[in-house]
Amino acid sequence: MTKVVKFGGSSLASAEQFRKVGDIIHAEDARRYVVPSAPGKRFASDTKVTDMLYACYDLAAKGKNFDEEFERIKQRYNEIISELGLDLSLEDEFSTVKSCFIGRAGRDYAASRGEYLNGIVLAAYLGYEFVDAADIIFFTDSGEFDPERTAKAASERLSKLERAVIPGFYGSMPNDTIKTFSRGGSDVTGSIVAAAVNADIYENWTDVSGFLIADPRIVDDPLPITTITYKELRELSYMGAGVLHEDAIFPVRKAGIPINIRNTNAPMDSGTMIVESTSQKPQFTITGIAGKKGFTVINIEKDMMNAELGFGRRVLEVFEKNGISFEHMPSGIDTMSVIVHQEEFEPKEQEILSGLHRNVHPDSIDIETDLALIAVVGRAMKSNRGTAGRIFAALAHAHVNVKMIDQGSSELNIIIGVEEKDFEAAVKSIYEIFVVHQL
Ligand code: ASP
Repeated sequence: MTKVVKFGGSSLASAEQFRKVGDIIHAEDARRYVVPSAPGKRFASDTKVTDMLYACYDLAAKGKNFDEEFERIKQRYNEIISELGLDLSLEDEFSTVKSCFIGRAGRDYAASRGEYLNGIVLAAYLGYEFVDAADIIFFTDSGEFDPERTAKAASERLSKLERAVIPGFYGSMPNDTIKTFSRGGSDVTGSIVAAAVNADIYENWTDVSGFLIADPRIVDDPLPITTITYKELRELSYMGAGVLHEDAIFPVRKAGIPINIRNTNAPMDSGTMIVESTSQKPQFTITGIAGKKGFTVINIEKDMMNAELGFGRRVLEVFEKNGISFEHMPSGIDTMSVIVHQEEFEPKEQEILSGLHRNVHPDSIDIETDLALIAVVGRAMKSNRGTAGRIFAALAHAHVNVKMIDQGSSELNIIIGVEEKDFEAAVKSIYEIFVVHQL
């Protein structure tokens, strides 16, 4: 059995957290390949090392003095090293990083040092081999991740090692410069490593015990999701339920490796299992609820629009030409509504309106802003009659007016548009009817 274990920044923010991580790794022999993030926040107002590195590099790039900021970064590592009692000095590494900053090695290089240095510390602490991600994770000339070259190099290198630490977040370009994934990208590295070593499971250790059925800022103590499929997760993350980097799914999903989200601060919790498919009956009809505010609806009316060939295409062409992607497009017989992100739409508003007038000659166009979308997601909805009925009964009961409904033909989700002011009440009422009343 082989497990790849990735630890997020808060799991490695201090010596105390390192000890927890060490205990977790030593508790199971299968935890052979370890992917660390850079040290994260130790307390709410703390700064992540990654952010310190970006700020420091920005000073360096402007030719300003960055000694003080750099010292603070060194301190974060030195504190961990000395509190763990390690026989390790990063002084040579620090000097190299500093001269590369002065030599303008790039923002990506700067940020990647957070994981690189933390990887060296963790490898020393665990007594595992350190493998620089720059040697096994590659990007193409255009900056895209290069899966073929990476898979080959990573499996070749790692198959020779019984145990190793591979820093997250970065890899190298064909010209040997460093490139990072987008923020939170150590999740992606973990997934790539898991696929490369044919892991049985990819454990992603963070500071929450997996995904929750609803946002804890809206619902008090929501229950955790024990098992979720990749498709359900995709629907929920699209609507803002974040724990895992979106791109972390593809490498393991292709290889059929499940992801287990676990909590470093509560290792006894079994967390959330993310799987391709499962025969396990979910406890509730819904798997999760997620939502976002900040949408605008553009309602276009025209008599007999349904008979006008190419009407929809001409509407969407206007949005496309203005670089706006649409989120949903519910339609009636003589109306078509296009839902877009408010902040993307606002600066282009007048161009889009005049474009629509030119392209489709509507009878009227009406714009509504401050809309929230809520996705109710669940693989069990397909086999349960009355799900939509229950959602709308709950919303009516909570005095929430529904502005839009969209059910995908996969029957995996129902999306509801409500006014932003009703958002919290709507989420609460859906949670109540499907979870609280079902317990
Ligand atoms: N340290 C990086 C960040 O803060 C990458 C990661 O933690 O996954 O985004």
